[in-house]
Amino acid sequence: MSSDLIYPGGKLRLFVEAALGDGAAVVIEEGQAHYLLHVMRAKLGDRISLFNGHDGEWLAEVSETAKRTCTVACKIQIAPQTEVPDLWLVFAPVKKTPADYLTQKATELGVRVLQPIMTRRTIVTRVNAERMRANAVEAAEQSERVTVPQIREAVTLDKLLAAWPAQRRILFCDEAGDARPIREALANAPEGPWAVFTGPEGGFDPAERALLRAQPHVTAVSLGPRILRADTAALSALSIWQTLCGDWR
Ligand code: SAM
Repeated sequence: MSSDLIYPGGKLRLFVEAALGDGAAVVIEEGQAHYLLHVMRAKLGDRISLFNGHDGEWLAEVSETAKRTCTVACKIQIAPQTEVPDLWLVFAPVKKTPADYLTQKATELGVRVLQPIMTRRTIVTRVNAERMRANAVEAAEQSERVTVPQIREAVTLDKLLAAWPAQRRILFCDEAGDARPIREALANAPEGPWAVFTGPEGGFDPAERALLRAQPHVTAVSLGPRILRADTAALSALSIWQTLCGDWR
């Protein structure tokens, strides 16, 4: 008789790379095994949830334990594979708020891709994509998504726009004051792929604003009369997009 889910606070969910399916045995190693065996004290028969971004979510039972690894056997699919709306966050990393925080919140808000950009006024010199990926996995596990957002390596704004996918619409958060309110700009917005763009502490410079506004499918929007911190702006824009165009409707 399988025991209850080992995580009293709800479902303990782990993102794994392995294929999941009826009877599939998944070997849990390293940090995840340590967490299961020595933090959650998993025992034979305990059950956890697994997802890998392709096969939906599976309830799995601990079938073998060793000092540093354990094996779990998939028993039943408990959620189909679904995808979050096709929404990217293109953001200039800022000093005060680590990209980790923004990664976690954007993952919870259902972005599909996080693309850091280096702009002329970006103070941050590098972004740790590996750390961002680890934060994205943790936030995906917590928020019960069955996908983990893709974390892309930082690029310059110019380079990104030079190869911008033609069909992806740009929601340009423009604090200059002459943009339309976001609610009005997104009313009856067309379906399809979108990307929210936010700038660094000092904002986009005039040439970058002009380049963004010159993009074929750009919608410049205002997020109200106050100047928001870059992370506040990003999370606000993502939330409003989800409300008006995404899966919060
Ligand atoms: N230029 C701003 C200033 O004068 O202090 C600084 C930029 S703001 C801290 C960082 C980014 O957040 C901006 O580049 C923009 O993308 C977004 N943002 C902040 N407030 C906004 C607003 N009221 N409307 C639209 N976007 C905003």
